[in-house]
Amino acid sequence: MKILVINCGSSSLKYQLIDSATEAVLAKGLCERIGIDGKFTYQPAGGEKQVSDIDQPDHKKSVSLVLEALTNKETGVIADLSEISAVGHRVVHGGEKFASSTLITDDVMKAIEECNDLAPLHNPANIIGINACKELMPGVPMVAVFDTAFHQTMPEEAFLYGIPYSYYTKYGVRKYGFHGTSHSYVSKRTAEILGLDYNKAKIVVCHLGNGASICAVDGGKSVETSMGLTPLMGLIMGTRSGEIDPGAMEFIANKENLDLKGVMAILNKKSGVLGLSGVSSDFRDIDDAIKDGNAQAKAAKDAFIHRVISYVGGYVAVMNGVDAIVFTAGIGENDKSVRSGVCKNLGYLGITIDEEKNSIRGEETIISTDDSKVKVLVVPTNEELMIARDTEALAK
Ligand code: ADP
Repeated sequence: MKILVINCGSSSLKYQLIDSATEAVLAKGLCERIGIDGKFTYQPAGGEKQVSDIDQPDHKKSVSLVLEALTNKETGVIADLSEISAVGHRVVHGGEKFASSTLITDDVMKAIEECNDLAPLHNPANIIGINACKELMPGVPMVAVFDTAFHQTMPEEAFLYGIPYSYYTKYGVRKYGFHGTSHSYVSKRTAEILGLDYNKAKIVVCHLGNGASICAVDGGKSVETSMGLTPLMGLIMGTRSGEIDPGAMEFIANKENLDLKGVMAILNKKSGVLGLSGVSSDFRDIDDAIKDGNAQAKAAKDAFIHRVISYVGGYVAVMNGVDAIVFTAGIGENDKSVRSGVCKNLGYLGITIDEEKNSIRGEETIISTDDSKVKVLVVPTNEELMIARDTEALAK
């Protein structure tokens, strides 16, 4: 089956066409600046990457560009649209309604819309993407794969906040967690690589990208994760603060003469590694600045690593043990100094890192020494493949 995977943001749309039989990516690309002007990227497997400026006033235009590129006589990878058997959509928030991926029906669309207020920046964009595909590919089965679904196994003790219980029952204020597709894929792959029984293994997944979260996976189930009601919680991220004292919000509002919306904008867009370093949200820039002797950049990186250490330690405690710790996403896959910085403090678990193995980038590798009691790995994430797998299973 050929599955089109769509990850739709408010002004962008990432896509991949995956052959589910071989799990090969046939073509992939990105639509950017939708509703502003428009940039379109398309890359067939083994072919040249094509980048062009094409006006994209809305997502429907972007989806039509994707379909044209895939069926293009010279550089396309399919003869016509009937070869696309199903479309898998990444949907950010499924609230408590979705504990797994689901075939999209009118009722499902309604239920996704009901989750909009939990993810006002993301879910409406996901819905726009689904509707655009439905219009241009009528009759093709579509599947929604939720970022939150994998974490629905968290026990109440882990997902409740210490606030009036009625806020949970009335409004659904609780921890949901995100990056679920990634945590699920990476933990499963880790068990396979190590030959562990996934239903018994205790794995801590560190998804460290621009957005970052940690997940405790016990027996194949998420039992704790660092993002919360929203993706602002937990680790220090590229531009997001992660965990701060809720009392700091009022304090900052008073000092800076901001309303709540203003404070939220700072915490989402001007904080994290960017806010701390004053340099950039990108670890490559941070590392360059550190090399140039920038003390603030070093402080940002140290704080980032410290926060990861404290969450990993907490999650090992939550699971009462750990078999493997695994790093993934942009920073986790590429930045060896972050990995060794985190693992330096994990000696108490019997962890030792082989610095030579740790110098790899972006490859599935066991980076702990052979005699390390707990294994440490790098496993590149592949959310699109997970979406394609779920889509195939449901569309069949
Ligand atoms: P997201 O999907 O959340 O946007 P990614 O998982 O793609 O993020 O991660 C992007 C981040 O990964 C970049 O902002 C940068 O900090 C980091 N990164 C990417 N490549 C490298 C590298 N070679 N060395 C260090 N950090 C890197």
